Formats: sequence, C-alpha cells, structure tokens
Amino acid sequence: MSIKNNLNQIQETLPDHVTLVAVSKTKPVSDLMEAYNAGQRIFGENKIQEMVDKHQEMPKDIKWHMIGHVQTNKVKYMAEFVDLIHGVDSFKLLKEINKQAKKYDRNINCLLQIKIASEDSKFGMTQKEALALLESEPFSELTNIKLTGVMGMATFTDNQEQIKQEFNTLKTAFDNLKAIQTNNCQLETISMGMSGDYLLAIDCGSTMVRVGSSIFGKRNYN
Ligand SMILES: *Cc1c(COP(=O)(O)O)cnc(C)c1O
Repeated sequence: MSIKNNLNQIQETLPDHVTLVAVSKTKPVSDLMEAYNAGQRIFGENKIQEMVDKHQEMPKDIKWHMIGHVQTNKVKYMAEFVDLIHGVDSFKLLKEINKQAKKYDRNINCLLQIKIASEDSKFGMTQKEALALLESEPFSELTNIKLTGVMGMATFTDNQEQIKQEFNTLKTAFDNLKAIQTNNCQLETISMGMSGDYLLAIDCGSTMVRVGSSIFGKRNYN
C-alpha cells in the first residue's frame, strides 16, 4: 500500500470532528512529501532537531506538532514555528515555552499531558496536579502560551479493556479541567489514540489522533 492510499483509508474512518496528526518521526522527507502531496498538512515529530530539519526542507504551510517529551533547554529551537506542543507536563516547561514564544511575538498552543498509563515510564501530570496548575497565579501570568487541550498515552498492552479505561480517564480529566476558562486556557482538544487504538480512542472521545506506522509503515530505528 502506498502512503497516499493508507492516508485516504484512515481519513475515511475519521469523523469530521477528529484531526489526524501524521506521525512522521524517523521517516525521510520523501515519505513526508508523499503524504503532503496527498493533502496531509499536520505532521507530528518526537525529536526537536529532526522536526527543525524537516521544517526547513519542507513547504511552509505545514503545521508541525511536537508529540514527544520536551526538554526545557530545547524549546528555543522550535519556538519560531511549532504549531502545537502535545507533551507539556510541568509549569517549568510552560514558563520556558512562554518566554521563547515572546521572543517571536507569538502565541504557542500547548496540550497538558495527563498520566493515564500504569507504566512508570510515561510522562504526565495527574488530574489533581493539572487542576492546581490551571488555578495558580503564576500560570495566569503566562501571556504567550495557550492551553488548548489534553494529551495522553495509554499503556503499551494488548489489553483493550485496560486501554479503554485509560482513555476514559483522560476524557474525564478533560471534562473536569475544561470548566476552567481563562485567557490562556480554553480546552477543546483531546489528543489520544495511535495506529493500534485510534478507533477505540475516538469511541472514548478523542478529537485528535496521532497515527504513524499505519500511514508510513513500520519504523526502523537503526
Ligand atoms: C510514535 C508516536 C505515535 C505514533 O505511533 P504509531 O503506533 O506508529 O501510530 C503517537 N504518539 C506518540 C506520542 C508517539 O511517540
């Protein structure tokens, strides 16, 4: 199957209110261009340097999403162009994003990463921590970021029931947090679901799915 066919097939299964992020990490620009020529405009990367390089080489109407864990000291490299940062999980990181966005006189959209997996390795905040953050004075002073939603990653398992429970946890957190509406916080997006579970995620309320291997094929990390 070609990248174009894969994309078309996936698009056909998505309801109108669901946005597809094509996760292109490790893939060459030629593959991304195939997706671009098939109409795809949102690409997700998990390494800042790789995203910066691809941004330089590719058409400028692409929206670049950072979906991986972000180190504070690297925010500056993507601040000029990144469209959405999915994995924001601390005030310290938000503060740095705000500072770098200011330099370019722009606003950077962010999703709060909520920890839903049972594994220790997944990043994210609890709903309680997120609530405390959104209600804090220092947060209200960040004028160059906007929190537009939440993001979560389910446990790496074949157990569909567990994955479903974890997706439901994220949906509940979203429903509770979205009551908070301020200048820099208007939650609309629930980023959850990958190649293996995006249909389940949509059933559980996802509005943004991050799909990689089902579009571009398996990744080779060597
Ligand atoms: C790699 C990655 C994806 C895509 O995974 P696939 O299983 O290839 O669809 C989605 N979200 C995040 C955060 C990723 O790192």
